[in-house]
Amino acid sequence: MFEPLVDFIREQYATRDPIPLHAPVFVGKDRAYVLDTIDSTFVSSVGRYVDRFEQDVARYTGCGRAVAVVNGTAALHVALRLVGVQAGDLVITQALTFVATCNAISYCGAEPVFVDVDQHTLGLSPRAMDAWLDANARIDSDGTCRTRDTGQPIRACVPMHTFGHPVDLDALVEVCRRWRIALVEDAAESLGSFYKGRHTGTFGVVATLSFNGNKIITTGGGGMILCDEQTGARAKHLTTTAKVAHPFAYEHDELGYNYRLPNLNAALGCAQLELLDRFVEAKRVMAARYARFLSGSSLKFVTEPTDCRSNYWLNAVICEDRAQRDALLAHTNGQGVMTRPIWVLMSRLPMYKGARRDELTRSQWLEDRVVNLPSSVLPEYLR
Ligand SMILES: *Cc1c(COP(=O)(O)O)cnc(C)c1O
Repeated sequence: MFEPLVDFIREQYATRDPIPLHAPVFVGKDRAYVLDTIDSTFVSSVGRYVDRFEQDVARYTGCGRAVAVVNGTAALHVALRLVGVQAGDLVITQALTFVATCNAISYCGAEPVFVDVDQHTLGLSPRAMDAWLDANARIDSDGTCRTRDTGQPIRACVPMHTFGHPVDLDALVEVCRRWRIALVEDAAESLGSFYKGRHTGTFGVVATLSFNGNKIITTGGGGMILCDEQTGARAKHLTTTAKVAHPFAYEHDELGYNYRLPNLNAALGCAQLELLDRFVEAKRVMAARYARFLSGSSLKFVTEPTDCRSNYWLNAVICEDRAQRDALLAHTNGQGVMTRPIWVLMSRLPMYKGARRDELTRSQWLEDRVVNLPSSVLPEYLR
């Protein structure tokens, strides 16, 4: 029953070869900029592409400052440090996410709390978060949100814009404000996605991007911290070994990290960013074709939430049940058309199965049913 879908996907990508879920494309100035770093010998921690990439991303997203780092996970780690997450703290996030979100919380010595997602965004539900806090938290006289049983601070909340679809940001900002919890957006998947006309990653105190090879644009490996200017200065300090500025002396004034993005990678990022709008356009066209092709079928195509313009980084369908999901995955992958189930819930992984959580009803329902379909930039957009 999935043969027409396989044929349809093959037609879009115009190939009999295996079709990946998402392939990077290099059809701009990628080669020229990367070669420029080699010719200049500035491939590493010094060079003009890092500054330029940071400025270009800040301008594109509309944030005050962007700080480039080695990958999205490192960006999240530092973002959590920037909002004061410490050992023993709790950080609210979704169980339906890529493991990096939770790992960054653990790197700080903090623990994740998993609350449910919304069905229409696939991202953290402000109502589920509010309900969990109502049942489990209080605000102390010092203004800190703490659990009622152990008194642990609930320092931050990390929503993730799943597959590029923005979470319900207005409501989430309001819940975070009321409970005095810092909002850190994991925008790794949502570069090019907007909520009510504003770029994702500009609603919280800090946000993070990823430029891994499978993201909408890539630097090989890379990430970015988005924040205001003042926080950005501290982000730069922390990600460059907390070195005190000096022409030749080495002095470090706190525990820092060697997380700076090399110039070589930043050069690729500058070239990729020049074509981002074209990539988003191509993905939105592919999403519209999927939606039309699947309308009336038993596979429900996932569309952008209202008031949002999604980058449709990875297209997704919701199957009727787990059996249909397994059949879809087996057939398409057997035919050389790569598809993938959504992540196993974080609350099931050995390192997080003891974490606090709510019922996760919708997360579990989606875990059984969501499948990603091939989403690379269409060939007609590569010329
Ligand atoms: C890709 C991704 C990251 C960061 O991944 P890196 O490979 O470290 O750049 C973080 N969170 C989510 C949800 C992601 O999809």
